[in-house]
Amino acid sequence: MYLENRSYQIQGVRVLDIADQFGLPTYVYDADKIIQKIDLLRSSFTGVDLKIKYALKALSNLSILKLMRSQGVEVDVVSVNEARLAMRAGYEPSQIMYTPSGNRFAEIQEAIALGLTINADSLPLIEQIGQTYGSTVPICIRINPSIIDGGNLKIQTGHADSKFGIPNQYRPQIKALVEQYGIPVIGLHIHTGSDFKDGNTFLKIADVLFDLASDFPDLRFMDFGSGFKVAYREGDHATDLAELGQKVSAAFKEFCARYGRNIELWFEPGKLLVSESGHLLANVNVVKENPTRTFVQVDTGLNHLIRPMMYDAWHDIINVSNPEGPETLYTVVGYICETDTFATDRLLPQVRTNDVLSFENAGAYGFMMASTYNMRGRPAEVMVYDGQAYLIRERETFEDLLRGQIEIEFTELTTI
Ligand SMILES: *Cc1c(COP(=O)(O)O)cnc(C)c1O
Repeated sequence: MYLENRSYQIQGVRVLDIADQFGLPTYVYDADKIIQKIDLLRSSFTGVDLKIKYALKALSNLSILKLMRSQGVEVDVVSVNEARLAMRAGYEPSQIMYTPSGNRFAEIQEAIALGLTINADSLPLIEQIGQTYGSTVPICIRINPSIIDGGNLKIQTGHADSKFGIPNQYRPQIKALVEQYGIPVIGLHIHTGSDFKDGNTFLKIADVLFDLASDFPDLRFMDFGSGFKVAYREGDHATDLAELGQKVSAAFKEFCARYGRNIELWFEPGKLLVSESGHLLANVNVVKENPTRTFVQVDTGLNHLIRPMMYDAWHDIINVSNPEGPETLYTVVGYICETDTFATDRLLPQVRTNDVLSFENAGAYGFMMASTYNMRGRPAEVMVYDGQAYLIRERETFEDLLRGQIEIEFTELTTI
């Protein structure tokens, strides 16, 4: 069916075999790719105390978290349930950074009780922590630097109109509040968005944080957040990690010298670590020739990978089962009863019914943003590790979808 030597493989495991063994649609993650990215990030920085805090909202399967932990990567979470998941994977609370976005105070209190590092994202939150805990709970402060970067409006978080963080111009108010309650400030944080177009944005962030640091003598770390750009298609710009690491390391060393001691440098990559590792495999249900275009209809949709519809994201598509077919233009669409387009006028090797397609670069915000819309369960997840494919999440069944529903019984109308 396909040429042996051209068959698409992950660590020597044939993708078609994975499709056969686990069924479709299925998310497959290549553990080697994740380890490579971690190593690359780490080796890009020299002479600084670097900590990688994986933003696990990108992909939080327990086996992925255990892999991260085995590589000495810590975590950033945005909810207490994410923290609980990380702890289930073996993380200590002290290794978990909790970054809320206007979360209710009861949840912040749970996070404090668990012993997470609290990243305060508003003045009211700092005040509430001071009123409730006095000087006993050290915090990190999330600053909004009024810097615009990021792939598109929905993923820009550091501009002046964004809901995230405390605007930099409120520096006097921050200082007054932490002094009033004696709150130890152990970290400063900026996360300016995803997919920076400009490699120098991290240096601009550094300048804001370095300047601010003079108000806070007890810092243990500075957290530069994320924004690493991943190349989704050929010719896409990707963050040059080597260059970034060199520039930021140099600037940070200089800062530490001025500050008077060495503190930790943190990053919170999500996408960078897991995007490329992930593939969404799907079966071709129907190839439908209309007067204007030929549709490839697959047995998945925006319910499983929403990025194309939500962010206009490009995902490369590979025809796994017919890689040598003559190339033709196709519009690849999902089965959801709604406009549900993965790719318009995409050149692909001839697509036939029951071919297997792979949507590439689907590791980050793929499964995690999946829903059960149209009463369709979420896909299975598989990890290829050490040349072997492991099921790491079962496919959702009809029974799973019913769980939690409670039926009210009504008497049927009787006609008179
Ligand atoms: C989402 C998020 C990240 C990760 O962003 P990526 O673009 O996936 O690397 C990091 N930090 C915080 C606070 C986030 O909310």
